[in-house]
Amino acid sequence: MIFSQVVLAPADPILGLTDTFKADPRQDKVNLGVGIYKDEAGQTPVLQSVKKAEALLLEQEKTKNYLGIEGVQTYNRVVQELLFGEGSTLVTSGRAVTAQAPGGTGALRIAAEFLLRNTPSRTVWVSNPTWANHQNIFETAGLTVKEYGYYNAAAHDIDFDGMMTDLANAQAGDIVLLHGCCHNPTGIDLTLAQWELVANLCADKQLVPLFDFAYQGFGAGIEEDAAGLRLVAAKVPELLVANSFSKNFGLYNERIGAVTVVAQNADEAVRAFSQVKRTIRANYSNPPAHGALIVSTILSDAALKALWVQELTEMRERIAEMRTLFVQSLKDEGVTQDFSFISRQNGMFSFSGLNKAQVARLKDEFGIYIVGSGRISVAGMTKTNMPVICKAIAQVL
Ligand code: PLP
Repeated sequence: MIFSQVVLAPADPILGLTDTFKADPRQDKVNLGVGIYKDEAGQTPVLQSVKKAEALLLEQEKTKNYLGIEGVQTYNRVVQELLFGEGSTLVTSGRAVTAQAPGGTGALRIAAEFLLRNTPSRTVWVSNPTWANHQNIFETAGLTVKEYGYYNAAAHDIDFDGMMTDLANAQAGDIVLLHGCCHNPTGIDLTLAQWELVANLCADKQLVPLFDFAYQGFGAGIEEDAAGLRLVAAKVPELLVANSFSKNFGLYNERIGAVTVVAQNADEAVRAFSQVKRTIRANYSNPPAHGALIVSTILSDAALKALWVQELTEMRERIAEMRTLFVQSLKDEGVTQDFSFISRQNGMFSFSGLNKAQVARLKDEFGIYIVGSGRISVAGMTKTNMPVICKAIAQVL
């Protein structure tokens, strides 16, 4: 039998943890592993703006006919406006082309295959550390993954010199994966001055930035979080963006994102787009409609957009509040180790500095689930579970 040769794949480091969490019978268990936003009640509800858009769609939808390979066209336009800003010349000049994709993951995979088949480089540089799935996605697509320094563990801060030194070794045409904002897993983002230096390096060395933009609106704000991307896009002739609406619209299981290619002129963009579509056709033919229709309905309607902005602001502000509360609660539990860096970081995640043994004790003795690297999803903290979390951490330190 041929299947008798198949070996069991290791559990996914993040989603596998959720499976173990679900099977844990303890009442006061807490999942700080996976990056899912929880409200104060520990729930991940459907946004009101999404519910309203879905009601409109239910009423107005006339067909379930296939979409084109590139997906919903109004969606692709509103995505570009969100990425580059309304009225951006990248949008009006035709230099940017966007195809709907099944989540940020699908967008990264399409980007990787497009690059592999149509550009000379076989190498993508990712930050060390990075989201656990990056290496998996890129290697499965056939690219070689190299790492650039990003994190200074002792300082709980960015290792920007390490990043620049490593990227100086990249070859012309190499791809550089950059987290647009809310770096996963560290929560540490580049300053504008650092973005400028990265942009100059990419321009000088002809490196191709590939932005992974999964958390727009979770850092400082929708426009603010796009500042790095827009700065780089103003300086380099070519780049790609893989963005996701899983988190900022709470559309996790709708699998909705997009892949955007920026070329140096509209003519090259048209050719690049034909190859992006060819890649999509070979993978899943054309995307599902629902998530894209929700996002385009919301972003094309001033009142729904305002409601979404308000809901996203509430999510961002709640996470920021949890960061401050976490630092304070640890102090209240008598922890003397400095955790203040957590309140300076962005987005859903922080690197806590907890080691593997401490992470294991938190799980085994206290039912608190954290990824082995010590990455904490702050978005899973609430005022209710905070004392449980901090008491447990105080005991394992
Ligand atoms: N990129 C980063 C950095 C992420 O953290 C995630 C999700 O956790 C994704 C991409 C993928 O998002 P999606 O769930 O839309 O595929």
